[in-house]
Amino acid sequence: MFDSSLKYGILGLARSGIAAAYKIKELGAEAFLSEMQEAHQIPSAQELIQDFACEFGGHTDKLLDCDVWIVSPGIPLTVPIIQKGKARGIRMISEIEFGYQIKAEDSQIIAVTGSNGKSTTASLIYHMLTKLGKNCILAGNIGDAFCSFPIHKPGIEYIVLEISSFQLDLIESFAPHVAILLNLTPDHLNRYPDFATYYASKMGIFRYQSSQNYAILYQDSAEITKRDKSIEAQKLYFSDFDQNSAAYIDDIFIHVGGEKLSVYDLKIKGHHNQLNAMAALLSIQALGLSMSQSMKAATSFKALPHRLEYVDSINGVSFYNDSKATNCDSTKSALESFERPIHIILGGSDKGEDFSLLTESLQKHAIKAYITGDTQDLMRQAWLGKLPLEFADDLDSTVRRAFAEAAMGDNIVLSPACASFDHFSNFEHRGEIFKAIVREIKREKE
Ligand code: ADP
Repeated sequence: MFDSSLKYGILGLARSGIAAAYKIKELGAEAFLSEMQEAHQIPSAQELIQDFACEFGGHTDKLLDCDVWIVSPGIPLTVPIIQKGKARGIRMISEIEFGYQIKAEDSQIIAVTGSNGKSTTASLIYHMLTKLGKNCILAGNIGDAFCSFPIHKPGIEYIVLEISSFQLDLIESFAPHVAILLNLTPDHLNRYPDFATYYASKMGIFRYQSSQNYAILYQDSAEITKRDKSIEAQKLYFSDFDQNSAAYIDDIFIHVGGEKLSVYDLKIKGHHNQLNAMAALLSIQALGLSMSQSMKAATSFKALPHRLEYVDSINGVSFYNDSKATNCDSTKSALESFERPIHIILGGSDKGEDFSLLTESLQKHAIKAYITGDTQDLMRQAWLGKLPLEFADDLDSTVRRAFAEAAMGDNIVLSPACASFDHFSNFEHRGEIFKAIVREIKREKE
């Protein structure tokens, strides 16, 4: 637990590391900041140097003088400094764990994890709680870091957290009042040795919960139900069809807590978003809040940018930006979200996934796949001869090619199934560039 006499080492000076450092200072403990990159590569380096003892350009043995390390989710646990720290028996936690240790007792945490749908579900929960007039915050992987809020002071009723597996890898007591596991599908195989290790990391969200807490789980996922036996929290399941589950879909209605909501009243598109909505509504049930008011609130929730976001129409051809689809499963859900086959734009930087997982979906739901980015060769190997493919050097020519071939009423969807770091700073950057290309094509047509 937090102890102001301890010296904290912060490894990695991105959003969450910086927020933790300032929180430690505010609470009267000592922090030593350590960053791989050079100071000139870190935008706030000068301020940090004034406020803390820091090192840039590498993690040195100075860190070994610290009692606890707060490790950025961006640092793989296999790097030498982590191995060295482990050998010395240094306690290592994530910023989420640190935030949990210092948060005021009256705030309840609703934590959302899963391979896909975390941001959407966490934002929907936050949207409903806000509409119910609750004092709440949305933090973690989405928006601002957990520790950047005044979480150590009483008054925040609910803290909605989006949590990645990397944050869960370093917890020692984190016990959210409500924990949601949306799904478990392959991802991040560049960071984990195998599926089992990645899935075990996700299941960590339930590890320290007690029977006073709630676990919300996707019943139709065999990967989840074969791992849920050790969960101590009260389990609430959502399912596509099982009417014995706490939430389920029957025809066009989502049923939760004795109330129902038509899927047509939701603004978020696709079956995957109905699953996200069920999970979000179950968190409302777990908190004992009004289901009818929450369902009403859910109907005004709009898709987040870069998640199947409608961009524009040109000559009857519609464009969707799903840049956040950075693994096969999220792209599969995009393919299944349209009534007729789509022109899909794929490719980016490799995360070690097997692209043949998408073959069947592409054959069924895509008119043609337009491929760009570093994964071109891997995608060619996976799909050549199995579906119509086209390769282009950059996103601009890919979008233009798809537009040239699209007919009135067609949809062009950027849903890459890959990370964006080959040619873009992040998925937002890629999505913004895509939208700018669409705007440019529209301008040229006018
Ligand atoms: P995350 O925060 O887990 O990355 P997002 O809500 O940002 O999730 O969505 C990321 C991508 O996954 C988007 O392309 C979105 O359309 C897709 N997606 C959202 N929810 C699901 C789900 N439940 N199952 C599969 N794909 C999903």
